[in-house]
Amino acid sequence: MNTPSSRRTLNSTQRKNPAMCQHQPPCPSADSADREAARLTVHHPEQGWSLLCNGVLLFEDTGELLPDGQIIAPHRPSAGRIMKVA
Ligand SMILES: [Zn+2]
Repeated sequence: MNTPSSRRTLNSTQRKNPAMCQHQPPCPSADSADREAARLTVHHPEQGWSLLCNGVLLFEDTGELLPDGQIIAPHRPSAGRIMKVA
């Protein structure tokens, strides 16, 4: 008798990709360089943040919070904002 040994028991490892993005073609994932190209699912300009469909939380100051908890520092283009040193 042939018993297929290809059957794998599913470990309870969480899937890394939260199946939030249902766009076709799928948007860049949260760990890709152009993650900001994903579409907005939640937009709260009055609170200064948006949630992209890949799970990235995008802040008004261009800072980001990735789904795995990683924080990306703001990287706004140097628009000539003058920093005052008090
Ligand atoms: Zn998407």
